[in-house]
Amino acid sequence: MSDPDVAVQARRRRTFAVISHPDAGKSTLTEALALHADAITQAGAVHGKASRRGVTSDWMEMERERGISVTSAALRFTYRDTILNLVDTPGHADFSEDTYRVLTAVDCAVMLLDAAKGLEPQTLRLFEVCRHRGIPILTFINKWDRPGQDALGLLDAVEERLGIRPTPVTWPVGIAGALEGLVDRRRDDEVVGFERSAGGATVAAESVLDPAALSGDAAYTTAVEELDLLSSIGAEHHPDDFLAGKATPVYFGSAVSNIGVRHLLDGIVDLAPSPGPRPTAGGAPRPLEADFSGVVFKVQANMDRAHRDRIAFVRVCSGRFDRGMQVVHATTGRPFSTKYASSLFGQERSTLDIAYPGDVVGLVNASALRVGDTLYTGRAVAFPPLPAFAPEHFAVLRPKDLSRVKQFRRGVVQLDEEGVVQVLVSDRRGEQAPVLAAVGPMQFDVALHRLAQEFGAPGVLDPLPYQLARRTDAAAVGVLERAPGVEVFTRTRDGALLAVFPSPWRLSSVTRDHPDIRLDDILDSS
Ligand code: GDP
Repeated sequence: MSDPDVAVQARRRRTFAVISHPDAGKSTLTEALALHADAITQAGAVHGKASRRGVTSDWMEMERERGISVTSAALRFTYRDTILNLVDTPGHADFSEDTYRVLTAVDCAVMLLDAAKGLEPQTLRLFEVCRHRGIPILTFINKWDRPGQDALGLLDAVEERLGIRPTPVTWPVGIAGALEGLVDRRRDDEVVGFERSAGGATVAAESVLDPAALSGDAAYTTAVEELDLLSSIGAEHHPDDFLAGKATPVYFGSAVSNIGVRHLLDGIVDLAPSPGPRPTAGGAPRPLEADFSGVVFKVQANMDRAHRDRIAFVRVCSGRFDRGMQVVHATTGRPFSTKYASSLFGQERSTLDIAYPGDVVGLVNASALRVGDTLYTGRAVAFPPLPAFAPEHFAVLRPKDLSRVKQFRRGVVQLDEEGVVQVLVSDRRGEQAPVLAAVGPMQFDVALHRLAQEFGAPGVLDPLPYQLARRTDAAAVGVLERAPGVEVFTRTRDGALLAVFPSPWRLSSVTRDHPDIRLDDILDSS
């Protein structure tokens, strides 16, 4: 059943994530964005103390402090009649493969940089995943209210290290720490001044400054020179380059003072893509107006242990979702009831009854659903399985209790299938001692916890001294296995051959000694 309204609704939506290194200001920016919102509702939420042991969601903290409705998975708000779905990328202590996976649920990302620190490791990793998946990226250079790097220097770093062309949309008048205003290059170089709001608690009042009055101002003169330079090197926004991930519109500001945030929001609405038809496992994309379909991109254990329930967060890919509708779980072919879609957040929070492509729905009683699963109504569809990302932590897993070996093995297979961790095997180590590989060490904690709780088969992990992995092929295995400090494994999930290295230096020396062997960056296996 085709619903023409779906395409109209999809065009009104922007679904994005903020990618950043811890402390760059993601929570502050989120809050600043939300301050501009007309209304805030949430796409799904989980109450109570975190099962994430000691890791309190920043957003939950915000919710308590500010009384706004947020969730641990997605924040939804309206700006200029556009519905913005901001999907959370877990960072800090809970950085894991799931952090990368949530990027499969967004159409665009905001790369947030600290003006003083510039590009930092976690940002680089997340950037690579976005680039690999072809997600367009806007850049926000934060903390311009305090001393930092030079604006042109930051652009150079983005261009050189990321290989993406920065095309500034706003430009600071004043070096970091001495911000006088922002030039809006999309509005004929209009200069906007700000009145600081205490602690960014309100939207900073803006006023358009008169260029004539600024003519003697040294900072303004410098800004004009820099703008001329930018124009002369052609650093202008080109929609095609941005959408193809070759260029990134850049914004400057201060999240904590809510400066430049409005410009960024305008950029998300005006420049970022709305949800489009998503390619299916068969190849052909499912049209937006087709029947409902969606992909589970995050599963969270219910905070209420007594129920052992799970909440699955689904990104709507096509059609209209109506709470209560019966959908098909593509993996099992079984019907799945969405009656409880949002009952958890029914009382004090607004219920999500209808959702369109780009929206995020939280499904309660979702113990059958796994990350990567497809749900649909009408014509059957399955979206491609979620990719596995390059692991950076490795450990040998063995059963603690030898009388539980059968359950232990079953558990490992299950966790592997669910993508909780990656399982690596080799002839040398034998099947008895699989190696677990993960993007973040928290994945190991989850794996051990679930082996003990769900399979009654506690395990022990012995860390291995490897730091990075490269994809290789059968022809290179002999050489690599003779290289000291290097080991080759087969990843059970997809049969990929992975060579693991104790350090980047070891990798470069092997590459130098054997320039002909295949050692590909493995962002993912898709
Ligand atoms: P997250 O770890 O990326 O979520 O970062 P937070 O939002 O928690 O911010 C980290 C620290 O940077 C906090 O102390 C913030 O107050 C501070 N911060 C965030 N944005 C700004 C900004 O624009 N200017 C300044 N000076 N500090 C900021």
